[in-house]
Amino acid sequence: SQSNSDLIRATLFPGDGIGPEIAESVRQIFKVAEVPIEWEEHYVGTDIDPRTNSFLTWESLESVRRNKVGLKGPMATPIGKGHRSLNLTLRKELNLYANVRPCYSLPGYKTRYDDVNLITIRENTEGEYSGLEHQVVRGVVESLKIITRQASLRVAEYAFHYAKTHGRERVSAIHKANIMQKTDGLFLKCCREVAEKYPEIKYEEVVIDNCCMMLVKNPALFDVLVMPNLYGDIISDLCAGLIGGLGLTPSCNIGEGGIALAEAVHGSAPDIAGKNLANPTALLLSSVSMLRHLELHDKADRIQDAILKTIAEGKYRTGDLGGTATTTEFTNAICDHL
Ligand code: ATP
Ligand code: MG
Repeated sequence: SQSNSDLIRATLFPGDGIGPEIAESVRQIFKVAEVPIEWEEHYVGTDIDPRTNSFLTWESLESVRRNKVGLKGPMATPIGKGHRSLNLTLRKELNLYANVRPCYSLPGYKTRYDDVNLITIRENTEGEYSGLEHQVVRGVVESLKIITRQASLRVAEYAFHYAKTHGRERVSAIHKANIMQKTDGLFLKCCREVAEKYPEIKYEEVVIDNCCMMLVKNPALFDVLVMPNLYGDIISDLCAGLIGGLGLTPSCNIGEGGIALAEAVHGSAPDIAGKNLANPTALLLSSVSMLRHLELHDKADRIQDAILKTIAEGKYRTGDLGGTATTTEFTNAICDHL
């Protein structure tokens, strides 16, 4: 057993909907695997915190800033005026500028493809998500897509750095610069500038419509993909579909000052919340990426192996993968493998 001072502190947001159930699965597995982490848990509040203008408390943001590492379940933003969306608050306040979404075929779980091994890197702070929309005159609205040199260089830099440090060969910038000449044009220009600093990494530019066609035809054509915000949202769901759905795909948000906030790609899944039916794999694999960020590779490998073995065995699979196991049964099976 370990003394408290050996423990690494990390922030945990169980989140909404299926969040608490899948977060419990992570807690249980970390305990069995004896991961030296002490969770600082923060829940989405029931009142708006004026310091954040959202249902997230200032203390919860401070916790991530202090620990620099955390795990987040899905958060559903309550509808209403006068407050910021939870995810947007996190992104803005913590400057989470890149969202990294690895997507690889799980051995033993058959889909149309068995050789998917992609990383999508999504710009996370601007583009179509700048939240600047207004009515020009009655019947005409306008939404501003913001692309800046600073944010584009930052995400491109991260993508090439990621490719280099993870033994990847190629970075593809995904765009629609033939139509969005100024915005996507600037994004591409920044990617090209960064590419020049990484001559060992191949660089290419692919128009998004063509990218979609290529991905569903032969996902092995791609390696690391980097793109503006909205394209990243869409393409990463497409990629999740290639390997078996949203229950499986992890992600990690990278922020200024070395913050890493891992989270599942999926939402709060209100249709199955509270029923012990959710697949915790996406959040579990996100927690594995958090462990890798902390260089706890032993623990990460052990947990990842146990998850993959449980899925490959096929005896305990949740409904989204065609099985009948509950979240608890699937989690227990992973613990047995540990
Ligand atoms: P939100 O508004 O929070 O995004 P949503 O209604 O869009 O919620 P998602 O969470 O995006 O729902 O999920 C879309 C579909 O995928 C739902 O039918 C949901 O049940 C399913 N799903 C998502 N995550 C999981 C999971 N971890 N396990 C099983 N099914 C899931
Ligand atoms: Mg959703």
